Amino acid sequence: MTTIPGGFRMLPAAEGKCPDCATDHDPQLPHNQQSLFWNYRFLGLYGRWPTWADALAHCDDETAKMWIGAMPEHGGPVVTMKEIEASRVFITSKKSESAT
Ligand SMILES: [Zn+2]
Repeated sequence: MTTIPGGFRMLPAAEGKCPDCATDHDPQLPHNQQSLFWNYRFLGLYGRWPTWADALAHCDDETAKMWIGAMPEHGGPVVTMKEIEASRVFITSKKSESAT
């Protein structure tokens, strides 16, 4: 269970859905950046709202680069590999912080 600022607690995502964004997607693909579940869960876990780079951080580089190229063509944001790498470092550091 994730606690978000204000003391609210979130139930886990429904079974079979992505545990991070509660959407039905291949684990290799980005999280649903528009998902409220994803936004609040990320805020609760990491203390800030997620960016598109955060939604792409768990993807392998090939998948991430494909999305980086495709998103602006479809009216989406411009995201760089540098932002994704920074997000990976941020998420990993927060995870090791909470594990200690
Ligand atoms: Zn997801």
